Amino acid sequence: MMRIDIITIFPEMFREVFSSGTIKIAREKNLLDVTVHNLRDYTDNKHKKVDASPYGGGPGMVLQCQPLFKAVEAVRNLGGNSVKSITTVLLSPQGKALTQKEGKRLIKLKRLILICGRYEGVDERIREHLVDEEISIGDYILSGGEIPAMVLVDFLARLIPGVPGNPESVKDESFERELLDYPDYTKPEVFKSWKVPSVLLSGNHKKIADWRKKQALQRTIIRRPDLLR
Ligand code: SAM
Repeated sequence: MMRIDIITIFPEMFREVFSSGTIKIAREKNLLDVTVHNLRDYTDNKHKKVDASPYGGGPGMVLQCQPLFKAVEAVRNLGGNSVKSITTVLLSPQGKALTQKEGKRLIKLKRLILICGRYEGVDERIREHLVDEEISIGDYILSGGEIPAMVLVDFLARLIPGVPGNPESVKDESFERELLDYPDYTKPEVFKSWKVPSVLLSGNHKKIADWRKKQALQRTIIRRPDLLR
């Protein structure tokens, strides 16, 4: 069982996403335990504030150390001692890029605490003294770490053995090998005047496998030659 705890100022954002699709299945199969915590529950500020303006001036607000250190400390003590090692991750555009390969490393960690930044980000001392890793979902700036955390949880849920109903469905996907996935077709055989490639209707499994391999290679060369070694 993998356990993921998420610390955020917008816990309500996660409700629908975590009770649908693959994440729901992973939770129902007891392969993933994901819990969302409200950062404001851990602030010592009587007005529930968790942010302040940056020293030195400048725009926006910054998430403060006190509530985040307290939240991580509290969350670390949840769930008993079954998993000794806990990795605390800050979702950050300055972090290591999330890739299929990174995901495979992360699912082995078994217990993650995800911190969702907001506003201008977090006090630098959080990066320096609380966080083990920073993960980015791409070279663009979102307004908070919540959507990146959802991306990460969805991604990891699909990689947990036993979660996808058919493990074969994950094997051939784009980025699993150095190839993009081959194209798929489904019913009807003709839509408007566009036909499904006849090889897919031939029933010849060897020919179909060869065709798919060739298609995967062709589209990788055209769209993502950087993937090919
Ligand atoms: N000032 C920060 C910078 O330029 O690096 C950006 C702060 S961003 C508006 C607020 C928060 O959103 C970040 O602290 C982070 O948690 C999250 N975030 C935004 N873009 C992200 C990305 N591409 N990957 C992961 N997290 C991201």
